[in-house]
Amino acid sequence: MIESNIDSLVNHNICSLHSTKNVNIESIELKNAKRAVCIMSGGIDSALCAYIAKNQGFEIIALHFDYAQRTQTKERECFYALCDDLKPISRVLLNVDFIAHIGGSSLTNSELTIRKNFTDIRESKEIPNTYVPFRNGIFLSIASALAEKEQCEAIFIGVVQEDSSGYPDCTHAFIDKMQAAVNEGRGYSNTRIFAPLLHKNKCEIIELALEHGVPISSTWSCYESQDLACGLCDSCILRLDGFKMAGKSDPILYRIFT
Ligand SMILES: [Zn+2]
Repeated sequence: MIESNIDSLVNHNICSLHSTKNVNIESIELKNAKRAVCIMSGGIDSALCAYIAKNQGFEIIALHFDYAQRTQTKERECFYALCDDLKPISRVLLNVDFIAHIGGSSLTNSELTIRKNFTDIRESKEIPNTYVPFRNGIFLSIASALAEKEQCEAIFIGVVQEDSSGYPDCTHAFIDKMQAAVNEGRGYSNTRIFAPLLHKNKCEIIELALEHGVPISSTWSCYESQDLACGLCDSCILRLDGFKMAGKSDPILYRIFT
């Protein structure tokens, strides 16, 4: 089974009313210094996962993907800024712009419109056009190759299942099966995929990010803009909701503050 629970992720009273699932808290057992590939987009969720890994004693290999997404420049800038603080043993930047050539997402196709002011993000069964086909499958496959080469025991990924836009590659079942497939087809022992935020809501994620020392001003979530966050896309709305519920202020600047 994948690991979605870490012992430090406990008792967040402010967020408890909004929690989407009760989870058993278990500790990651660390016998020696271990290495983890941390997939880092430049956003809060993946940044938090990398800090959780670091704070749990993992040596970090930070992995970032450029896939010709609208906010590529800003996300890469945030990745580098986070790495300057996190100090991974190595940082790996890979160009995977074939994802944009495949297409099918408004994140890589500017002719498609990113929805704004959508008020039914969590309840809607519709997969929004910001979904990038099989992106996390591609990312995890590449991360698995890097983990095998670098002899890493773990991969950390910041997927969130419930409190999100409902992407099909952000589910517990998907990550679980990806881990099984990865370990079936590799030579170096087992790699465990840690997805500690799978069943967290955005409020809990903001609180955890603050607890773990994530430099939030060096993260970016907006799907559309790179100068000022739009404040209206799903990602901005979820991020702002998280800060509001946590009773905190988001340090980044928004074009329209909702
Ligand atoms: Zn936005």
